[in-house]
Amino acid sequence: MSTINGVLGPLDTADLGFTLMHEHVAGASAGFWQVWPELFGGREEFSNYAAGVLRDAKATGVQTFVDVTTIDLGRDIRLIRDVAERSGMNVVACTGHWLDPSRSMAARTVEELTSLFVKEIEQGIEGTEIKAGILKLANDVTPQLSSFGEKAARAVAKAHLATGIPITTHAGAKLEIGFRQAEVFEQEGVDPKHVIIGHSDDTDSLHYLGGLMDKGYWVGLDRLPSGDPPFAVRVDTCAALIERGYADQLVLSHDFPLDIALAPTALRGSEWSKRNPDGIQFIHRRFLPALQERGVSQAVCEQLTVDNPRRFFEG
Ligand SMILES: [Zn+2]
Repeated sequence: MSTINGVLGPLDTADLGFTLMHEHVAGASAGFWQVWPELFGGREEFSNYAAGVLRDAKATGVQTFVDVTTIDLGRDIRLIRDVAERSGMNVVACTGHWLDPSRSMAARTVEELTSLFVKEIEQGIEGTEIKAGILKLANDVTPQLSSFGEKAARAVAKAHLATGIPITTHAGAKLEIGFRQAEVFEQEGVDPKHVIIGHSDDTDSLHYLGGLMDKGYWVGLDRLPSGDPPFAVRVDTCAALIERGYADQLVLSHDFPLDIALAPTALRGSEWSKRNPDGIQFIHRRFLPALQERGVSQAVCEQLTVDNPRRFFEG
């Protein structure tokens, strides 16, 4: 049992319960919430809507929602706090970086990036006392890390070593970028047990997934259910990993933003919900039953959604 940084204050890991490890209240570019809340239907309206979605999920058993929205994904920590307060859901916020550095961010050194991340963990985010409970890193697109991507990876590693806060990543799985992230983490001296290599259900390569877990990393199957590979393959891959003995290194989530301004407006609501009408309730409504049809026990389903997130945060 230990305590982690929640948006509304310290959270006891014993109270995390069923945890979604990679979600977003909303995604946008940096500053969007400040200049254009109308795009989301208004700040107050969106906050009420998002709180309703989290309340509904809570009523069906989701107890903790890890929001991995970074500054370059338009994180607005006061909005996340409002949604946490109104919904009663445990919410954990992040520091770190995604794929879209501003020129000001791209110009920073590893040491400067590290100091920003540590400040958001130890002092608070965006002028509040809300502390980040997890570090986010994203690398994608090219098989090698970009110049900023490598700086961010080193800064995330150093901020982890300075604070003990664990790391979750967005890793282009088809390009096996988790291996590149792992190289940096190993150079920096990060113990893999404090790192989730995320978006790993975007591949069914057991070489990649097993390779990461054999090194000691957690693997995030955190883009359920959509895209390529299709849902059935994602379920088969998860079942195959469990059968090979990796159940204690897997965590689950949807990466399902309740709204996302990064997509054209025509695609935002309708397309996302067409792909996944269950939203952030997909895992317990559809994914776990599908795993059980493939012979995975109820106890293992609970391990993936309750015990593993708790063990990850307890380090
Ligand atoms: Zn995400």
